[in-house]
Amino acid sequence: MSGSIRKLDEQYIAGTYKRFPVEIASGSGSVVTDTDGKTYIDLGSGIAVTSFGIADPVWQAAVIEQIGKVQHTSNLYYTGPCAALAEQLCLRTGMKKVFFSNSGAEANECAIKAARKYAAEKKGPEHFTIVTLKNSFHGRTLTTLSATGQEHYHELYQPLTPGFAHVTAGDLDELKQVCAETKAAGILVECVQGEGGVVPLDPAYVETAADYANENDILFMVDEVQTGNGRTGALYAYMNYGISPDVVSTAKGLGGGLPIGATLLGEKAQNVFGYGDHGSTFGGNPVSCAAALSVLNRIDDELLENVKRKSAFLFGRFEGAEGVESVSGMGLMIGIKTKKPAAEVVSAAMNNGVLVLTAKDRVRLLPALNIPDDLLEKAAAVLLEAMK
Ligand SMILES: *Cc1c(COP(=O)(O)O)cnc(C)c1O
Repeated sequence: MSGSIRKLDEQYIAGTYKRFPVEIASGSGSVVTDTDGKTYIDLGSGIAVTSFGIADPVWQAAVIEQIGKVQHTSNLYYTGPCAALAEQLCLRTGMKKVFFSNSGAEANECAIKAARKYAAEKKGPEHFTIVTLKNSFHGRTLTTLSATGQEHYHELYQPLTPGFAHVTAGDLDELKQVCAETKAAGILVECVQGEGGVVPLDPAYVETAADYANENDILFMVDEVQTGNGRTGALYAYMNYGISPDVVSTAKGLGGGLPIGATLLGEKAQNVFGYGDHGSTFGGNPVSCAAALSVLNRIDDELLENVKRKSAFLFGRFEGAEGVESVSGMGLMIGIKTKKPAAEVVSAAMNNGVLVLTAKDRVRLLPALNIPDDLLEKAAAVLLEAMK
């Protein structure tokens, strides 16, 4: 890579990211090329963002067409892509209304605001607590950091936003007790904890928790920022659990590479926001919405079947393989606990032309939903070698 770019980056970019020594120049589908001309099979998708890979022609055409018309209007005016995307999101989920923002954290902020306002109006202002799970990840804003159930994210930023309680995933008694004690407004969960190590929640727990929330008029909210938009083999991961959440937040893969967040409001919360109650300058941006609409339209039954088939292939290759302790996840969101440290596997794979991520102590795979079988097979072989 170019030493001068690295120097500039280190001099002028705030030091929050530890980058790999690779400068990505271009890509096509699930193959990316660095500035030295070396190619990599991409099993990270920019952290579950590029749902159909890099520079996908269908996605690009949708973006270019909209950029040629109008790139931004503000929310003072109507635009077609924004309305059409909201309609599709509602038709495909049964949710009733959508608030658009620009990131996962903002999508969760909106969910939290919705639960607080709903509960305050319905039950009284003391019903403000949002109960989340330990080991969760909900974002980096102060409030979504407060929602995140991992202490190490909290340490540097005291005092946090009050009104959050964290409970152990799988412990229904604790959930019920904490909801009762805190007069909870909402419960927010990831069906598969992504940053927490790719840990799927137990279906019986999710089902009972959702029932309990429903019986007590506590909004059951699902963070689908990472799990959403086809990633787990269903359009949204909650669909694998047979529940009907009150609020769904999503982002990452929805825009296929352009920033967009969406908070879907169900029957109960659909009218919680009135004029001026919430807003976002860029939210519902027509280019991001046109991109997302093209992504959503391609997540059909056939694609989801292929996601499941590719998932089964990966589980089959890694489960019980040399150097592998365990495999977790759902669909094309997979965590592999390796005998070697995950970072070592990632760097060996990178040297051999495969990009993967980590989550906690696991190697994390988040390939494009349409990754060709031959690339997936090649990448799996490189990874298996790196894990030995
Ligand atoms: C990535 C992520 C977020 C935060 O999304 P940003 O777009 O980085 O704000 C929130 N929740 C989950 C589950 C995520 O994986």
